[in-house]
Amino acid sequence: MYDIIIIGSGPAGLAAAIYGQRARLSTLMIEKQPMSGGQIVNTPDVDNYPGLPGVGGFELGSKFRAHADAMGIEAVTAEVTSVELSGETKRVVTDEKTYEGKTVVIATGATHRKLGVPGEERLTGAGVSYCATCDGAFFRGKEVAVIGGGDVALEDALFLARISSRVYLIHRRDAFRGAKSLQEKVFAAENITVIWDTVVEEVRGENRVEALTLCNTVTKETDSLPVSGVFVAVGIQPNTELFGGQVELDKGGYVCAKEEGATSVPGVFAAGDVRTKMLRQVVTAASDGANAVFSAEHYLNSLS
Ligand code: NAP
Repeated sequence: MYDIIIIGSGPAGLAAAIYGQRARLSTLMIEKQPMSGGQIVNTPDVDNYPGLPGVGGFELGSKFRAHADAMGIEAVTAEVTSVELSGETKRVVTDEKTYEGKTVVIATGATHRKLGVPGEERLTGAGVSYCATCDGAFFRGKEVAVIGGGDVALEDALFLARISSRVYLIHRRDAFRGAKSLQEKVFAAENITVIWDTVVEEVRGENRVEALTLCNTVTKETDSLPVSGVFVAVGIQPNTELFGGQVELDKGGYVCAKEEGATSVPGVFAAGDVRTKMLRQVVTAASDGANAVFSAEHYLNSLS
């Protein structure tokens, strides 16, 4: 019986593991892939993690993991197939074994929705990005495209307009779903060009993004748009399939939890991109991991 079972090994899960060890709680971290770091392992440079300017995503993930290993964490690589969270003893079932814990920290993260077009996967990290705040600085003075019409696409376009020479905001319909206040700013920005009724058919480039093949959904005409970067902002999906019906999720599928990480189920905490929150970044995920374990420690003390 573990004090804490952490599901996920991104920055939130690893920070939770480190804090679990510091608190001398018996802690198990379960990771799906034999690689820690979560979404950042595909980010070439993480430019906004304090104290480590220019660190690569893979390197930062590895540093987090090395830190956790040095603290003596117990980690297993296994796919969690189901969970039973309601009782005082929590059960986490993997393809090989069932683990029991007094508390569970859900740190399964989120996955950026993809366009699913040729070239997107191959050029991810080479001009294709899913995070303007993380990667925007690499496109100073260059022309970039943002795909999507929600709040994130509008915010990304505005953010990138301060860095890039021109931002093409490409949306599949003729109206944005994002907030009107953001729309007003987008329309007022001199260097944002909105391209309506248009989808991306291909991301082109030999070793880096060079151009997009676009298709107008009304006229069916195709066109080529030369850009150095493309920011895909067509929504993200929290990795919460395992938890539906067990902990409260919001309408977007995120685990309902505030800063301290407590979920609707006693003894179950959520940390990182998987929980309801304003800003999904490495630094906020890491702080969530610490908060979740602090809350778990209080919960464990209340049991004894
Ligand atoms: P979102 O609101 O779901 O918007 C996704 C956008 O991508 C939509 O415009 C959608 O088009 C488009 N899209 C989806 N699949 C596509 C595809 N395959 N090809 C092209 N376009 C596609 O997602 P989000 O912008 O990431 O925001 C997520 C949530 O966070 C939202 O609830 C949002 O309000 C919230 N949020 C709030 C704030 C804030 O309050 N400041 C900031 C950021 C995010 P359609 O419009 O045609 O469906």
